[in-house]
Amino acid sequence: MPPLRKAALFGVFEDSLRRSGLSFLRLAAEGDHPAAYQVIRDQGSFRVRVYIWNLTPGGNNRPRDEWRIQPTGLDEIGGVTRFVPEIGGKTAILGWNADFGVFAAFDIEEHLDPLGSSPSIQIRQHALEAARVNGIAPHFKGSEEVAFAIKPTYMGVYLDNMSALHGCGSSEAALQLLDELCENPESVDDQDIEDHVPEPRRYGVVSTMKALRDANFKDRVLTAYSHSCAMCGVQLRLLDAAHILPAAHPDSTDETSNGIALCALHHRAYDRGLLTFDSGYRIRRNEPMERELVAAGLDGGLADFRARLFPMINVPPNRADRPSPAFVDQVNTLRGWAL
Ligand SMILES: [Zn+2]
Repeated sequence: MPPLRKAALFGVFEDSLRRSGLSFLRLAAEGDHPAAYQVIRDQGSFRVRVYIWNLTPGGNNRPRDEWRIQPTGLDEIGGVTRFVPEIGGKTAILGWNADFGVFAAFDIEEHLDPLGSSPSIQIRQHALEAARVNGIAPHFKGSEEVAFAIKPTYMGVYLDNMSALHGCGSSEAALQLLDELCENPESVDDQDIEDHVPEPRRYGVVSTMKALRDANFKDRVLTAYSHSCAMCGVQLRLLDAAHILPAAHPDSTDETSNGIALCALHHRAYDRGLLTFDSGYRIRRNEPMERELVAAGLDGGLADFRARLFPMINVPPNRADRPSPAFVDQVNTLRGWAL
């Protein structure tokens, strides 16, 4: 595909935020490079400065599996061209390749020196390929720098955990663990992190592991349900991967069979006990709660709410992905449903 212009590259970046489940406000004027965003997630928000270029093949006399960004077109400050970190926020240096459908992300800490006359920052193709499969993948560049390839739906995980991710370059054991973590976040546990990651980085790596597990769960569940709400069929990227037995319960797991794709409305209604589904996959409304709402004059929209519900949830075609009756029965009991 031909290289994209700056506005289109920022469009891809903004889309990656939305697809990661994040909201944002643009803080820079149209056409500014770098751009700045206030990124808003469930808990709090942060500011991020974004540099972005096309990620292109390495060029003549370079290894065939090398891809690179060429960071040109930046303003000179005090006679030199350099990346300027966002004070009190985060700074992302990104490349985008539409053929692989992944970003490359480089560590600002390793690129604070003035840029030369034809600057270039590289990543290898194996990372792009691995990210396309696993969501995110590291490429160790030596001299402590780790670059990442990232699928758009993992941009939130990357931005949230970027210092822990790039920080793993300082230890061989941490790097090895990072490799395993990106390939399969379920294969690593707290003990592995305690054994292999030096103390100051442990907390960050544990947070990264949790974020990767969440992203992996969401990916599997939404894919299993064809990105549509099991209760009403809505798509529109308004979907959550809800846990059937909530993650806070000790018996909860991240298996796909403990997940269900629900739109924002039905996720909230499920968690609040306004409806549920039984182990035969029938959707059950909470009629006593509906009557209370009618009595309190808080039943606006109830007729529409009822009308849009399927009689049964749509289940994934693959049996192993369908809600496990054990989880369904357990949560219904815990929430006080007499079915
Ligand atoms: Zn729905």
